[in-house]
Amino acid sequence: MNNEQHRVASFQAAALHLDFMLTGPTLIDGKLYNASMQQNPLQLPAITLEKLTALTESWGMPHYRAKQVIQWRNRGILNPVDMLNIPGELRERLSSSLICEPLKLVQRQCSTDGTRKYLFMLTSGRLKGKMVESVYIPEEKRGTVCISSQVGCVLDCPFCHTGTQNFEGNLSSGEIVAQVLAVKHDLLKEPLAPELNSSVTHVVYMGMGEPLANEEGVHESLSSLTDPDGLKLSKRRITLSTSGLVPQIDRLGEVASVNLAISLHAAENRLRDELVPINRKHPLQELRQCLNRYSLGKQRHITLEYVMLDGINDRPEDIELLAGFVNRDRERVNLISFNTYPGSSYTGSSKQHMNEFAKQLISKGIRATVRRSRGQDIMAACGQLKAERKAENREP
Ligand code: SAH
Ligand code: SF4
Repeated sequence: MNNEQHRVASFQAAALHLDFMLTGPTLIDGKLYNASMQQNPLQLPAITLEKLTALTESWGMPHYRAKQVIQWRNRGILNPVDMLNIPGELRERLSSSLICEPLKLVQRQCSTDGTRKYLFMLTSGRLKGKMVESVYIPEEKRGTVCISSQVGCVLDCPFCHTGTQNFEGNLSSGEIVAQVLAVKHDLLKEPLAPELNSSVTHVVYMGMGEPLANEEGVHESLSSLTDPDGLKLSKRRITLSTSGLVPQIDRLGEVASVNLAISLHAAENRLRDELVPINRKHPLQELRQCLNRYSLGKQRHITLEYVMLDGINDRPEDIELLAGFVNRDRERVNLISFNTYPGSSYTGSSKQHMNEFAKQLISKGIRATVRRSRGQDIMAACGQLKAERKAENREP
């Protein structure tokens, strides 16, 4: 690069930096940097290598510095002070210009089966001081992080603990990705027993909130999780669970056709209107057509989640209704045991009944599994750690 080119590049990088801090979409090097990015300060967990390079170059630093920072970030190390091979000036610049650690770990609970549950406090922005939860579920060959996408949820499914809590807002992509990074960092510092996995191989959007009601944060977080310069997770290792927002499912299929899980919970409109109220807006017929359209990769399937509630949706007629709804070639049913919580008016079906229900579905040609419940001793259902903390009146 000659001097003139270098001057132009530095100017562009500086302009880009300024634009992040100011307003209005900007075209730089043919790329449009969207307005919302500029309204929120940049967050290290989800920043791209390209943007960080532009920023560090605008600070007069060689471009390999951005790569070094990204390498630390990808290992879950977000505090510039801990990034040992970068100079002090860059550490200071990062701390003052970016939100490096959007989450602070408030509480961690470890189950006897290796499951770890985390309670995080948001450190900046409109949601500063609010809490979200994440869970790490280790298995022999995989390690799954279950992440939250919102603080609370507006959709009010009556059996769901998150639905009973106030909706406070959407998480940014940085706050979503930071959950995965924080779990990675924790596993690096304190790995599990050798027979269990201590790495993050899978991510599921099944924590607090409805991910498709936060399309901006979730789409951006998906591109960050799958970024070859970021966590490099394959789309096949990411599953997004939704209560069934039809237009948003279509859009997800267009931008990032990750594995899809649908909170079905009932296969007739009358009951689903009650259990999953979004059904009143997008009833089963509409959901059916939408699921048939969703593009699946080779050997992938859509999961239909079915939380089993005693006497409510576990009746013999529910087997018939499911048999009439499920697309056997593309979908499988996952029966989930109900995680109870204080104040809940539902009771879960017995283990024995769940197994029998699964058998009946299988006899009708439906692929059905019973989800193994993990972390029972630490109440690993979403929303419970936060509620427990609130009850103790320790929320800052
Ligand atoms: N909002 C999204 C994702 C978060 S909930 C959705 O509804 O799909 C993730 C899954 O947990 C959903 O299938 C949800 O129905 C289920 N769930 C909610 N409360 C539960 C509880 N108390 N016991 C068992 N599963 C529950
Ligand atoms: Fe929201 Fe999902 Fe809970 Fe329904 S089940 S209230 S959509 S988090």
